[in-house]
Amino acid sequence: MRGGHARRHENKQNEGSGQYLKEFRVEQCSLFLQHKCTQHRPYTCFHWHFLNQRRRRPIRRRDGTLNYSADTYCNKFDENTGICPDGDECPYLHRTAGDTERRYHLRYYKTGMCVHDTDSRGMCVKNGPHCAFAHGVEDVRPPVYDIRELQALELMDHEGLNGSGPNNLDKERNMVNDDPKWQGESLYPASHHFQEIKPFFIYLFFQS
Ligand SMILES: [Zn+2]
Ligand SMILES: [Zn+2]
Ligand SMILES: [Zn+2]
Repeated sequence: MRGGHARRHENKQNEGSGQYLKEFRVEQCSLFLQHKCTQHRPYTCFHWHFLNQRRRRPIRRRDGTLNYSADTYCNKFDENTGICPDGDECPYLHRTAGDTERRYHLRYYKTGMCVHDTDSRGMCVKNGPHCAFAHGVEDVRPPVYDIRELQALELMDHEGLNGSGPNNLDKERNMVNDDPKWQGESLYPASHHFQEIKPFFIYLFFQS
C-alpha cells in the first residue's frame, strides 16, 4: 500500500495532479476500517479515516461555476464531526482536517511553487508525499477560476478599476505611475492572462 502511494506522487504529469484533484481524501480508507492501514500514525494516508478528513471533489460545472468556493468558508460546517447541514451541495469551503478542500482546490492546487526542498524520493521535505505546492516548473498547473470571479475581474478591467486578486501587480504599478495615459494599458496584462487559461477551461469541459 505504501508503495502505491509513493508511485502516485512520483507521477508528476498532469495525470498525477488530476488524481489528487479528483481523489485525494475523497473516499474512505477500506484498510482503516479493517484496522490494517499503516498510514494512520502519523496520518499520511491518501484516503480519509475520519469524517472530518473527508474532502469533496472540486468540480467546474458546464455553466463555468465551481461546485464550492475556494475562498469563502462555510459557517455551518462542524470541524470536529466533519458534518455540514447543507451536505455535499454546500457552495462554501469546508475547513476539513489539514484544510484539504482549499489546498487541493482547482483554484489553488499546485498553482504556486513550494518554498521547501525535494528529497531523494521526490517528496517535499516539509509537507511530505502530498505537498499541494509545485516542486519544479513542470509540476505547476494553471488555476481554474469560477466564471463569476473572471466576470468580476473583466468588469473591473473595463471600468478601469483595480481590485485584489490576480490584478495586484497592476495595482502596484499604478501606485508608482499615476500617469492617466499609462493606466489605459493596464487592460492588457489581465486580458492576456485570461487568454492563457482559456485552453485549460476547454480541456476541463471535455473531461466532464
Ligand atoms: Zn488509510
Ligand atoms: Zn457547508
Ligand atoms: Zn512542498
